[in-house]
Amino acid sequence: MRRHLVLPLALILALGQAAVTFAQQPPPVDGILRLLLRLEQLMQAGDPAPYMDLLSVVADRRFAEEASRALIGPGITRAVIRERDRAPLDGTLPGDGYRLMVEILAERGSRARIETWRFDIRRVPTETSEDEWRMAGQQSLSSVDGLYRLALNPSKAYRARNLVVRSEDLEIRLPDGFVFTADTPDGPTAAVLVANDGATMSFRPAPETEREQVRIYAGSDSIETRIGDAFLRFSPSDFQAWLPADALVEAAADPALFRRAETVFREEVGRSFSIDLADLSRETWSLPPTAGDFLAEIRTRRFQTLTYSKSANDPEDISVFDRRRRRNISVYPSAARLAAGVSRFEEDAQAAFDVSHYDLDVAFDPARQWLDGRALLRLKVRAGAINNLTLRLAENLTVRSIYSNEFGRLLSLRIRGQNNVIVNLNGFATRGTEITLDVAYSGRLEPAEPDRESAAPQFPSDQPQVVDGQSFPGESSLLYSTRTYWYPQGTSGDYATAVMHLSVPEMYQIVASGELAAGSPVVVPGHDRQPSGRRYTFEAGQPVRYLACLISRFVRVSSRTLSLVEPLAGLASAGSGAMPAEPLPAGSFNSQLELIVESNPRQTARARQAAEVAASVVTYYTSIVGDSPYPDLTLALIEKDLPGGHSPAYLAVLYQPLPTATTNWSSDPAAFVSFPEYFIAHETAHQWWGQAVGWRTYHDQWVSEGFSQYFAALYARERRGDELFGAMLRRMAKWAREQGQAGPVSLGYRLGHIQGDSRIFRAIVYNKSAVVLHMLRRLIGDDAFFRGVRRLYFGARFDKVGTDDVRAAFEKESGRDLKRFFDAWIHGSGTPAVAFSWAPAAGGAERAVALRVEQRGKDSEFPVTVTLRYADGSTEDMQVAVAERTAEFRLPIRGQVKEITLNRDGFTPLEIAGR
Ligand SMILES: [Zn+2]
Repeated sequence: MRRHLVLPLALILALGQAAVTFAQQPPPVDGILRLLLRLEQLMQAGDPAPYMDLLSVVADRRFAEEASRALIGPGITRAVIRERDRAPLDGTLPGDGYRLMVEILAERGSRARIETWRFDIRRVPTETSEDEWRMAGQQSLSSVDGLYRLALNPSKAYRARNLVVRSEDLEIRLPDGFVFTADTPDGPTAAVLVANDGATMSFRPAPETEREQVRIYAGSDSIETRIGDAFLRFSPSDFQAWLPADALVEAAADPALFRRAETVFREEVGRSFSIDLADLSRETWSLPPTAGDFLAEIRTRRFQTLTYSKSANDPEDISVFDRRRRRNISVYPSAARLAAGVSRFEEDAQAAFDVSHYDLDVAFDPARQWLDGRALLRLKVRAGAINNLTLRLAENLTVRSIYSNEFGRLLSLRIRGQNNVIVNLNGFATRGTEITLDVAYSGRLEPAEPDRESAAPQFPSDQPQVVDGQSFPGESSLLYSTRTYWYPQGTSGDYATAVMHLSVPEMYQIVASGELAAGSPVVVPGHDRQPSGRRYTFEAGQPVRYLACLISRFVRVSSRTLSLVEPLAGLASAGSGAMPAEPLPAGSFNSQLELIVESNPRQTARARQAAEVAASVVTYYTSIVGDSPYPDLTLALIEKDLPGGHSPAYLAVLYQPLPTATTNWSSDPAAFVSFPEYFIAHETAHQWWGQAVGWRTYHDQWVSEGFSQYFAALYARERRGDELFGAMLRRMAKWAREQGQAGPVSLGYRLGHIQGDSRIFRAIVYNKSAVVLHMLRRLIGDDAFFRGVRRLYFGARFDKVGTDDVRAAFEKESGRDLKRFFDAWIHGSGTPAVAFSWAPAAGGAERAVALRVEQRGKDSEFPVTVTLRYADGSTEDMQVAVAERTAEFRLPIRGQVKEITLNRDGFTPLEIAGR
C-alpha cells in the first residue's frame, strides 16, 4: 500500500531549502550494505524478477513479488537507498536479524520520488567469514512523489509584448522582453521574465492597514518601481492563467539572453518549493506549487528583490517580503479568503493535533550551550486524517530518533532554515487518535531573546546592540523559553501540562516553569568523565502555553506561602453581583501560592525587596481577577545590561541592570523610572494575562501586553497613589499618540518591524493597549469594566483569546455595543483629531455651557476630560464621551466660565486642533 506524504507547502515556501537529515549513520556492516547496493542495481536495471533471488527462505514469496513490482519498475535512471534506522528483528538471535527503515530515491530523468520502506532482513549462514543477508519481508511505508529537478528549457523561448502578469493587488508589466520556462510533463512550473527597458511592477494591498505599512516602507500607498528580471513559480496547470498567451509569441532562444535567464533561475529556484535531499541527492529538487498558488521574485530598482507570494496554505495568504532586509512588508488575507469568512489568522483551525502533556528529560551543559534531551509528547489528532505531523524544534537540534507506541519507529524530515520537523507516521491517524511520541534530540542551542514576550528594551538594529558575553561583567545565564524551541512541541502553542527533569552540572542552578517537586534537586555523582550534577524535577500541573527554564548561579532568597482570598466570596461581598461567566469548579481556586525568590548571588538584597513587592502584587491581582492561576511563582533575578523581564507560567524573570551599565534606556516606552516596581508588576501580571489567558494570533498579543501593562498601572495606583498612576497613563498616552501612525494595536509584532525599531512595538502594543483599557473603563464605568475583566478571564482560563472575545466580554457586562470603540482603537491606527468650541447654553433651569466636539479625522469613540476654569480661578473636571462625528454636551456650571480645556490630564491620545 502506498501512501502519499503531502508536505505542508508553507514550510517549503518562504525560506527555501528543506533538508532531509538523519542523525544516526548506521555502523558499516558490509553484508547489509551489499544487499542494499544490490537492490539499487536491480532498480536501475528496471527488472523486478531478480528480486526473488534476494529472499530469505522464510519470506512470503507472493508478497515479495508484489512489493518488487512496486519497488522496481522501468524508467528508473538512478536509485539511491539509505538506511535510516535499524532494530533487532523479532524471532531472531541477536545479530542475526534486523528491521531496517530505509529511504529510497528513485529518479526517472528529471522526475523523482522518495519512498520509505521497512525491510526485515536475516543473516544467512555462509562458508566464508563474509556476512550475507537476505530479505525476509518488506513493506512500503510512505512516499513523496512529483519532485522535479528543474532546468530552464534552452530550446524554447517566448517573445513578450505588453505582457502583464497579474495576481491579487500585484501587477508585473513587461512591455517588451523574453520569457523562458522550466517545464514538467504537465506544463511549465517556473518562468524567468527577461525584461527590456520599461518593465515595472506595482503592488497596492487592498486593506487600509496594509497600505499604511507600505507607506512606511515605500513612502506611498503602493510600491511602484521599475524592475529588472523576475522569477515566477506556479502550478503547471496555471501557466496560461499567469502568462496570457496573447502576449507571448514563441521565438528562437537567443543564447546570451538564455544565459542571463539561467543566472536568475539558478539564484532563485532553490529558495522556494525546494527540498534538499541531503545524502540522497545533492541536487535541487522542487515540488510544483498547488494550483492557484503563485510566487514571484522580482528584482526591483528601488528595493532589490521583493518576494510576492500567494499561498492557500496560509490563512493570511498574500505576502510581500523584502529579501535583503528580511522584512515582512505585507501579510494579509486575500479578498476571496475574507469573503469565505476567514478574516483573521486562525492558527488553531489549522492545527492538526493538540499536545496535552509533555514529559521532558533534558541535560544541559551550559558552558558549551549544549543540551541532550528526550521528550515524551502526548497528543491527540484533531484533523480528519493525517499521515504526518509537524513539530517545532530548533533547527540546530538534531533529532536522534522518534518512536511512537502506536506507529513504531518514525522517520522525520528536517526543514533547513526553519525550526520544524515533519514526522512521517507510517500510516494514517484519524481524528481523536491519541499518539505518544518519544523524541530523542541533542545539539548546541543558543538561547534566543524571547523578544515577542519580553519587556526588555530592544534598540533599533542600527544602534549598537548590547550582547551578553565577553563585555558583560555580570553573572551569565541561559534562558530557554518560547521561540527558542528547545524541546519538540506542537506548532500551535496549545495548553498542556508537563513534567520536566532538567539536569545541570553542579555549579549551576536552574529554575523553570513549574513547581519544584519534593526531594528535588537530586545530586548526581560524577562518573566516567562526567562531572557531578543536579537533576531537578519541575511539575506544571496547571496547563501552560510553553515551557521555559533558566540556568544560572542562583541562591534561594526566600520562600513563603501567601494566603489568597477566596474569589467568589470576595466578589459577592464587594457587592458587584458579578458571577464570572464560567465560575471555577469548586475546589480549584488556589487559595495559597508558594512564592519563591531566587537570584544571582550579588542580587540578594534587591531580591529581598522584590519578594515583598511580588507578594503584594500577587495578592492585589488576585483580588481584582478573583483567581490566581498557578499555585507557584518563582521570581528569578538575573544580571543583565538592561532592565526588563520575561514571564512564562510559574516563573517571572527579572533583569537587573548592573550599576556599570551605560546604556540609557530611559527614553524607552517601557521605562517608568519613577516606579521601580514596574517590571515586577508587569511581569507578574503575565501569569494571568499571556499565560492563563493566552493570545490567539499575533493580532491579539495586545491582550497579554495591554492587560499586563494596565495591571501594572493599577498596582502603581494601589501602592503609590493617584499621582503616579496619572503620570504613568499620561506617559503611555503620549507614546500612543506619537507612534500612533505606525499602525494599529492589532498589527502586533509587525509594529516597528519595517522600521527595525522595537520601541514602536512597545509604544503601541504595551502602552496604547493599556491606555485603551483605561478609556474603556471610563466609558463603561468601573463596575462593568472589572466584571468584564473577570468574565474574560474565567471564560478563557487556560485558553487563548482574540480581540473579539475581549470585546464580547465587555459588551456583555456593559450592555453596550463596543464595535466602534474597538475598531477605532485596536484595529485602527492613529489617534483621533478633534476641534471643540463652547458657549453659554441657552434655556434650562441651571446655568450651563454648551460644548461642541467635532471629530476631524477617522471616526472614533473616546472619553475625554473637560476642564472648566472659572473666573474665580478655580477649576472643575468633568468627563464626556465622544461617539458621534459632532458631539454636543450641556455641562452644568457653578460660576462664570473663563476657559475650557480638553484632555488636561492627558489620558486620551488625542490631537486637538485650534478652536
Ligand atoms: Zn509583557
